[in-house]
Amino acid sequence: MEKIVEVKNLNFNYGVAEVLKDVTFSIERGDYVGLGGHNGSGKTTLVKIILGLLSPDTGEISVLGKDLKKFKQWSKIGYLPQNVSLFNPIFPATVYEVVSLGLLSKKKFPRRITKSDEKIVDKALEELEILDLKNKLISDLSGGQQQRVFLAKALVNEPELLILDEPSNALDAKTRNKFFNLLNSLNKKKGITIILITHDIGHIGEHANKLLYLEKSIVFYGKLSEFCHSEKMEGVFGYDSQHLICHQH
Ligand code: ADP
Repeated sequence: MEKIVEVKNLNFNYGVAEVLKDVTFSIERGDYVGLGGHNGSGKTTLVKIILGLLSPDTGEISVLGKDLKKFKQWSKIGYLPQNVSLFNPIFPATVYEVVSLGLLSKKKFPRRITKSDEKIVDKALEELEILDLKNKLISDLSGGQQQRVFLAKALVNEPELLILDEPSNALDAKTRNKFFNLLNSLNKKKGITIILITHDIGHIGEHANKLLYLEKSIVFYGKLSEFCHSEKMEGVFGYDSQHLICHQH
């Protein structure tokens, strides 16, 4: 299987605080990985390293088959931080403008939006069922709608890997479900590899095929089915937690 992300012997510290210790794993094309762990377990730091935003102290990392140090195809990776709405609440831009920014990132000078770009943007908006919001101001939308706008912005580049934070519990259940259904279909129908940082591990089995559980080092990485049948993980998580994670899988 083709490896989309490969991390070998990664160590990372913020100053004196050791945050990631000897982390080694790989993610294959088409995987849907739930990245779990307590608050402060290093999930965001790991993602920032994969995105090239932080450099590891030691370790080798490759993304889409290329050494991260030489990697340039950033438009092939979509990233959605949590609470995108906080990104800039008074940003005076329309949905159309925000999504077109996604396309600009891979253009060379002069960076202009053409007629064919507009078709690409419309298609993404249609796929996410927000075409009717095209000319609305981003600041006038609900949290769930904003999230879909930022997902559309990532999708216009046809990313091979999507890294995102689970939508916060502030979103209502219906909106969250809709978002998860969308991710499932991007993964299953389009074959987009997904890494989902999850704060609610009890539901991860409904979506992901793999679980990466971090506590500075990797506590578990593998298929959810393996996690669910692992006596060792029952020992680590306790029977109840393991079965809570697994009963929906
Ligand atoms: P998670 O995403 O799992 O909650 P983080 O990767 O954000 O964890 O944080 C891991 C650890 O690193 C935490 O102890 C956090 O306090 C610390 N940390 C995160 N960002 C910084 C920073 N910029 N400077 C110093 N310490 C940080």
